[in-house]
Amino acid sequence: MNKDDAATDGTSAAENNQDAQWKAVSNLLRAEIGEAAYQSWLKPMTVRSISDGQVNISVPTRFMRDWIVAHYVDRLCQLWAKQNSEIKSVDVYIKSDRAAPQAVSRKSADSDAAAGGEVSAAVAINKARAEISGPLDQRFTFENFVVGKPNEFAYAAARRVAEASTAQFNPLFLYGGVGLGKTHLMHAIAWHIHKSTPERTVIYLSAEKFMYRFIRALREKNTVDFKDQFRSVDVLMIDDVQFISGKDSTQEEFFHTFNSLVDLGRQIVISSDKSPSDLEGLEERLISRLNCGLVADIHATNYELRLGILQSKAEHLGMKIPPKVLEFLAHKITANVRELEGGLNRVVAHAQLVGREISLEATQDVLHDLLRANDRRVTIEEIQKRVAAHFNIRMSDMHSARRARSVARPRQVAMYLAKQLTARSLPEIGRKFGGRDHTTVMHAVKKVDELRELDTSFAEDVELLRRMLES
Ligand code: ADP
Ligand code: MG
Repeated sequence: MNKDDAATDGTSAAENNQDAQWKAVSNLLRAEIGEAAYQSWLKPMTVRSISDGQVNISVPTRFMRDWIVAHYVDRLCQLWAKQNSEIKSVDVYIKSDRAAPQAVSRKSADSDAAAGGEVSAAVAINKARAEISGPLDQRFTFENFVVGKPNEFAYAAARRVAEASTAQFNPLFLYGGVGLGKTHLMHAIAWHIHKSTPERTVIYLSAEKFMYRFIRALREKNTVDFKDQFRSVDVLMIDDVQFISGKDSTQEEFFHTFNSLVDLGRQIVISSDKSPSDLEGLEERLISRLNCGLVADIHATNYELRLGILQSKAEHLGMKIPPKVLEFLAHKITANVRELEGGLNRVVAHAQLVGREISLEATQDVLHDLLRANDRRVTIEEIQKRVAAHFNIRMSDMHSARRARSVARPRQVAMYLAKQLTARSLPEIGRKFGGRDHTTVMHAVKKVDELRELDTSFAEDVELLRRMLES
């Protein structure tokens, strides 16, 4: 049976249900990715069937398939799993592939709502571990990890674990907020060991999967096998252990497995969105055991790191993206790296689709919804400060009588921005700039408008300042 026929097999009730789910999922994603991306990528999708927890979707072209798999499938899967808890994966086919041989799929991510871009299925490298394994994300390597102040410690610790032949700090406990690179670092460790010492056994597993397997083993009464599987590995990595806390029997098992691995000198790596002591419902002895190793936290990103990540991603995408656009994104999207990537991907997808170059203007349009969420009111003082810093003049020059072009022009820009971004009247603005007349402000606004027409790089400067101030 080919995939195209699959849809006709269901009863009409099931189809209705399927349509309703798809409608809900696509509307949610539409709200997240914006109208342009929706039209480009989601609209052409057809849901063929849902069976065995797997959603089968077809799209018209290979390019589309690849792009969707790279950028949207994980999120689709998560959203879908929320509509229908039975959904575990989403597969995307090219419409003309009758037998769909090169279907590419992603497994459902953890119930962690914000998780995306990660393959949460159990992953093991060694063939012997195939039973508990799935693919590691190809992109999550040390080479692709951009190091900055906020993550340098966690990175160094992860590298150390990956490069050492014996257990280093046991366990290595990586913790940090959502989307800051915990899963990336764990996969990177696995990749590295796989390449350098393939004979070593590495198991990467989401905590959820660990629990699931353990509960299944309990039911099937073969907990001995279960324990052996884990106890014979060289490196065991369990992602998002916050999901284990509070589940007594799993915790117990985790603790025993953990202890015996440590006693055998095996390396354990754990990640969590909280520090060991902040994990709720975790037993005291487990907490103290976790604290015995090395606890490395990944801090929130800073501007430099965000910019570095964007530059690296842009390079990987092989896209020429104006530095100003990258700087703008690094200023604006501060929540986490996943959102930052998402923003960049949307901008790139849009540019490719409409066949236009990426500009600051287009970026603002495409990310309209994302950016609006960050908007807030600005004061004239903030504007003056930002503009002065940008043009490298003193703040006092905003009020001074100096008329040299090098200070007069920035002052005009600041007046212009004050008019655009605040509700102040011309006389009020004039007063804030050393008691100038309202006609001076009017003249400044006109002048800046003229210059924006004539000089694109000036226009972009003004635009960049405006957007930075709006963030
Ligand atoms: P977490 O597991 O902490 O929630 P992930 O490891 O899934 O976060 O990271 C989210 C996304 O951000 C991934 O696509 C990952 O590749 C990317 N990312 C995070 N930190 C970095 C970094 N320092 N350099 C490059 N990419 C990063
Ligand atoms: Mg993760």
